Amino acid sequence: MSKILIRGAKVLGGEPQDVLIDGEVIEAVGTGLPDDGAEVVEAQGKVLLPGLVDLHTHLREPGREDSETVLTGTRAAASGGYTAVFAMANTFPVADTAGVVEQVYRLGQEHGYCDVQPIGAVTVGLEGRKLAELGAMHESAAGVTVFSDDGKCVDDAVIMRRALEYVKAFGGVVAQHAQEPRLTEGAQMNEGVVSAELGLGGWPAVAEESIIARDVLLAEHVGSRVHICHLSTAGSVEIVRWAKSRGIDVTAEVTPHHLLLTDELVRTYNPVYKVNPPLRTERDVLALREALADGTIDIVATDHAPHPHEDKDCEWAAAAMVQDRTTGKVEVTAHNHGFAVDAPLDKVSETKFGRAEVSHVCLNDDVVEGLQLLDQPAFSVQYHPEAAAGPHDAAYLFDRFVSLMEGQRA
Ligand SMILES: [Zn+2]
Ligand SMILES: [Zn+2]
Repeated sequence: MSKILIRGAKVLGGEPQDVLIDGEVIEAVGTGLPDDGAEVVEAQGKVLLPGLVDLHTHLREPGREDSETVLTGTRAAASGGYTAVFAMANTFPVADTAGVVEQVYRLGQEHGYCDVQPIGAVTVGLEGRKLAELGAMHESAAGVTVFSDDGKCVDDAVIMRRALEYVKAFGGVVAQHAQEPRLTEGAQMNEGVVSAELGLGGWPAVAEESIIARDVLLAEHVGSRVHICHLSTAGSVEIVRWAKSRGIDVTAEVTPHHLLLTDELVRTYNPVYKVNPPLRTERDVLALREALADGTIDIVATDHAPHPHEDKDCEWAAAAMVQDRTTGKVEVTAHNHGFAVDAPLDKVSETKFGRAEVSHVCLNDDVVEGLQLLDQPAFSVQYHPEAAAGPHDAAYLFDRFVSLMEGQRA
């Protein structure tokens, strides 16, 4: 049965109507349409829209199937109303050859609950040094037209220029993850009042804006097309608006979280608010909404980027938050779950060295990061306070150790 009758749906949010579909053709729209033997779907006043397209997802296959696969990612997309998703190139191996983009494309054809369009890497291995095989990826079965090193910025101006020139030949587009790397070294959150109060390394708006300004000028200079991923600041909006008014071929996207949330939420230390680019201020959020409404921003894209629970090697600095439970103080650290011990968080456990209490815990996932023995002068911590960006204020652990040794001598 190829005919489907959708009954009582608010087409594009209007009054409830019936829609008769025959194969790939919408045959009739009206009220009280006869079912004519068609399969009937009772919409019960739900809104009927064309399939959504997500221009920015990370499906993690090949290489990180523990995070996501084409099958699980497209199943989630389809249940959210998406009929097509674009898959970013930062897989393992990187989607920087015709072979890998074809593999992702085929996985989409075979297992996909919706269409999967692979995005090709701009540079070999996302390393920013040498252009990837853009032409070969375009000519492959995957027919790649969008190229991005997303997760990393194409920060070398000459490489960016060459990429723009190259894709121009076949009407392609370079999608930039605008993040000046030197300005964001050690960044943990938006640079501003909240980062200053929390003592966390700042990711300044200018690190995004300076790359966007450079890239729209490069696109104009070579007469090519650039797309800006996940716009997050009021200044970025102003630059894109200016570029469009000048006739530069630029498009821009924004994520739902940057339209809805602000950096005030980082005060909770809840790692779900740890995103890249970071959540910005209310002023930025309002500017992004206005830009979406007036067409300066072209599309909402999710940047769906799943990380497995235990994975700290994420796009936004390999960082975790560890809390010292005796003082309540939180440190931004890197740590190695390979050495994690299993102990109940809120009660004393018996060990062969006597009673022990959890002294440090990872706030991301409640992994035990430190133990204090109660019957012996001994404690342990197993994270690396110095191994990640952020405040390096773990000297108190050495002080604690020294006073423990001195206590023994006395
Ligand atoms: Zn990105
Ligand atoms: Zn992304």
